[in-house]
Amino acid sequence: MVRTLRTLRPVSDPLGSYLRVGRLDHTFLAQMLVDGKAVSGLVADPAQAEQHRELWVEAHHQGVETVLDPRSLELSTPGGILRGGAVDLAWAPEGLHTPDSLYGRAGEDLCDQLVDAVVSASHTAVLAPTHYLASATDPWLDVDADLTHALRSSLNGAGLREVPIYYPLITKTENFYDPHWRDAIIASLSRLPIDAVWLRIHPFGTARSGPLALKRYLEACRDLHRLGPPLVGEHTGAVGVGLMAFGALGGVESGITVIDHTDLADWLRVPKKRGGGGGEARVYLHNLGAFLDRSKADALLSRPGMKSAHACLDTSCCPRGWKDTQMRYREHFVTQREREVRALSSIPEPLRAGHYLESFLRPASDKAVRASEAEPALMPVRKRLDSWRGTLGNDLVSNPTHSFSPPAAGKRHRKSA
Ligand SMILES: [Zn+2]
Repeated sequence: MVRTLRTLRPVSDPLGSYLRVGRLDHTFLAQMLVDGKAVSGLVADPAQAEQHRELWVEAHHQGVETVLDPRSLELSTPGGILRGGAVDLAWAPEGLHTPDSLYGRAGEDLCDQLVDAVVSASHTAVLAPTHYLASATDPWLDVDADLTHALRSSLNGAGLREVPIYYPLITKTENFYDPHWRDAIIASLSRLPIDAVWLRIHPFGTARSGPLALKRYLEACRDLHRLGPPLVGEHTGAVGVGLMAFGALGGVESGITVIDHTDLADWLRVPKKRGGGGGEARVYLHNLGAFLDRSKADALLSRPGMKSAHACLDTSCCPRGWKDTQMRYREHFVTQREREVRALSSIPEPLRAGHYLESFLRPASDKAVRASEAEPALMPVRKRLDSWRGTLGNDLVSNPTHSFSPPAAGKRHRKSA
């Protein structure tokens, strides 16, 4: 087969890599910033504004993009409102936010409060206060459009014309995979002053990406390229990196070793079981794009041949080898995710998919065979790598000239205010 390569352009803006900063992540991240380690974008939880204040000061000092999440999904869902301090936010409602309660003036007031929060921590971007869309005629769609306009106008009024707005598109896969639903969304979003669309699609992510889901997600993203702004996959995890290689996404957003898929079940209704939390630290096996509980990872790496296959040789995160990978598992993950995204960014768009298959996916699925024999918990990893290899390998052959999301580089894409 002869593939027609498009003229190679010089590589311009980098792909986006955002990290969602958890409650206890601020200290090690601040240390990484002070040490000059590469971190490209951080998502800020306003419920932790006080505890994370020093991190935002340092990020601002280092020119790292920080994005305020208004946590609007939490404030409008029965399970969400119970999560991590949402109820204490300055803009939290008495009960739950509803489309009626945020219509008109009340929505403008909310946006003014969000802008105060942006100013107070010197954040450089903000997520629009959007909500879960159950259908194409969901009343939130129009209210969220008004809120997005109000947020732009409030930012501009505060002299923050350069602060971009990213629009979280929050819905279930059933909608996202439906071309008619996407037509309605594109019609609505095309009129909004937004600089990127962040996809919070339930359920989807590394652990929820069977062959059909992956194929449909890829198709849906390519369809949404009509809209124009970059697409960022929220909580997509390792599969998000593959989706960037195939042009679907211009950026990914990841939890720090904790969340690699979107599952909104505990937001949309009050969960039966609360708390638990914690659990064992998870080590990122970068050669497999997968996490493994620390004790299992330790046992795996003590097996013959496994250290040479999976230990981290990168002295910027793991100067003392496996010992550091275990102890400094968060630094290791952040460094390796950054490295994965930067490596892709440095390759011209038309070559990214092939490069991803050859340099990551093929060796990863080969390595997963032995690793899963030694550690049965890796069997699902082996299966999904094989599945991605099949789905993405086929896409490379059947869609050689697909569209690309613009890179999510943290700047205003809108022309006029
Ligand atoms: Zn490492």
